[in-house]
Amino acid sequence: MKLIDISIVVPLYNEEAVFDLLIQRLTQVIDATDFSCEVVLVNDGSIDNTAILIENICKKDTRFTGVLLSRNYGHQLAVSAGMANSRGKKGVMIIDGDLQDPPELITEFYSLLMQGNDVIYAIRKNRKEGFFKKLAYKAYYRLQKKISNFNIPIDSGDFSMLSRRVVDTMINMPEQSRYLRGMRAWVGFKQIGFEYDRHERHAGETKYSWTKLFELAFNGIFNFSDFPVKIITRLGFFTIVFSLCYFLYNIYRKIFYNDVPQGFTATILAIILFSGVQLISLGLIGEYVLRIYNQVRNRPLFVIDKIIIEAEETSEKN
Ligand code: UDP
Ligand code: MG
Repeated sequence: MKLIDISIVVPLYNEEAVFDLLIQRLTQVIDATDFSCEVVLVNDGSIDNTAILIENICKKDTRFTGVLLSRNYGHQLAVSAGMANSRGKKGVMIIDGDLQDPPELITEFYSLLMQGNDVIYAIRKNRKEGFFKKLAYKAYYRLQKKISNFNIPIDSGDFSMLSRRVVDTMINMPEQSRYLRGMRAWVGFKQIGFEYDRHERHAGETKYSWTKLFELAFNGIFNFSDFPVKIITRLGFFTIVFSLCYFLYNIYRKIFYNDVPQGFTATILAIILFSGVQLISLGLIGEYVLRIYNQVRNRPLFVIDKIIIEAEETSEKN
């Protein structure tokens, strides 16, 4: 069998509306490259016809392989499943199935890979999303950069090309709550950004609900930052200093003006305020405990229903 240089991993969840165009664009791309490519289509438990469409194209063209998951595991795990089943000797390119990331950029990515870069991550110059979502993304990435333990590049998503050694390292990282762009940055080696215009989704609706988006954002913060836990300690110190000052002030009033007791409002305020602080603190610690719990259960990251790799001989092409 011909050696495969690059695997293109595409996670798909209910993407029948965009599927034909996706395959058309991908086929054009892999026809044109002077290195050999395979496309790994991952069906993330779609409830539409995506799985059937994947099976059909894999039967027609051996350069396409299918990984069908047993249910919907979410984007990050779908990509992980694709990476784990990729055969590209030189590396893997990760793209979204909705053509927001132009697959044509593979040539630029590949030449940067050949220049000795291990991670080529795409940076979104602009986004074609609603104002509010854009603002939320912007704020989030900046917050994350401020508080994360190491540098996760701003405004870059999962669209990237990774060298084989980076892919292998990431596959062997057993993290349950996966935040691939963080893991990718953690691996290190030579990493380089590549600016591009993010297009609009070609068809269908976004498959990232707000819940999923928040889950991803939380993983980005809690998996790569100690800041939330540290801030609890700082808050604790601040509270103690503040209450001591208040106590001294009261003593001063008592001695020089004799007008204490007063401050019923202050008492109530303190109780409510610090009950809130305590609840939030518990929640923050809970986020880490939850992650520990998920990790120690040691479940497999995903379950595969079926892998479709057609033998070269049975193909119409060769
Ligand atoms: N996706 C997935 N599983 C999910 C949600 C999304 O595999 O549970 C895929 C989806 O089919 C698409 C990619 O992940 O190929 C990015 O999702 P989407 O375009 O809906 O996210 P957005 O671009 O709106 O953030
Ligand atoms: Mg999209």
